[in-house]
Amino acid sequence: MTTAAKPLPPHGSQARYKGTKKRPPCRCRTCISGWTKAGQRRQLLRLAGKPASLNREEVAAVIGHIKACLDTGMSQCLIGRRAGVAQSTISRLITRGDTGCLRAQGERILAVRPGDFDGVSDRPSLATVRRVRALYYAGHGPQAIRKHAPITLTIITEIAGAEYEWVSPTTETAIRRACAELAGVQGTSHRARDRALREGWAPLSAWDEDTLGDPSAHPEWTGYCGTDRGWWIHQRQQLPMCARCQQAHAEWMADHAHLDGRERARALLIARTTATSREADLAADARELLHHGVDIEQAAERLGVTRQHLQQALRRHPENREVAA
Ligand SMILES: [Zn+2]
Ligand SMILES: [Zn+2]
Repeated sequence: MTTAAKPLPPHGSQARYKGTKKRPPCRCRTCISGWTKAGQRRQLLRLAGKPASLNREEVAAVIGHIKACLDTGMSQCLIGRRAGVAQSTISRLITRGDTGCLRAQGERILAVRPGDFDGVSDRPSLATVRRVRALYYAGHGPQAIRKHAPITLTIITEIAGAEYEWVSPTTETAIRRACAELAGVQGTSHRARDRALREGWAPLSAWDEDTLGDPSAHPEWTGYCGTDRGWWIHQRQQLPMCARCQQAHAEWMADHAHLDGRERARALLIARTTATSREADLAADARELLHHGVDIEQAAERLGVTRQHLQQALRRHPENREVAA
């Protein structure tokens, strides 16, 4: 139970117009027109044959939608705030859905977008944790991060350790800003870097901004992570090994265990050379397209890879190195 005072329903709502035993009704212009509009709406719905309350099936749809919103980490309070209904309404629907739901409220609840956090609500910490860890990877420890994010050293350290399931919007924004400032710059903290390497934390470039907060997303270090080719790219570029590539390589080795020493060495050599040269080829082809004025999005499409993958390939194979290789 929350001990905070219950907020007043907004002007223009039927609840504010009607008042309660403890709270006098409001007759301001907004409330009167709100009441009138609500009355018109009830009339219209009745005329259209749509009752002011949802039927059982419709209520079930509303409850399903609330659950989808809750699954993204939204709280009952936040869903209520977004829908303009009381938290108690949300709570009642999920615990005692058989008590029904007003059509107007149900429609507003259905209009809430899952995962639509506002400036007040805490949000899941995962994206922030991954950002801080990426900063460690780049050699930025809590001291450096703090210069760009007005939060305490302790909180930064604890976020790195994933000690919070939730973070405040202020913290999230602060870390996001620090990331924008620092992620592309090589930091000086060996301690931070060592910790990141020891724990297998990924750099920001391995993450897709859109899925940074998705628990099922994996860092993409090589453009081929989760395959044996990815394993070779980790090796070749001296990137920390990721678990998915480790697994894929173990499977490759098991699949080739029947070969004798010579054959196996040959298979390994082929795997290694194809793994690394193709990405260099890809970067070279892309660069040629870019020189001819094709933009990166189109280039990726023509080469049959994602834009993120292509950008990584270009970053890993700078122009001068290709000439030298
Ligand atoms: Zn009013
Ligand atoms: Zn990998």
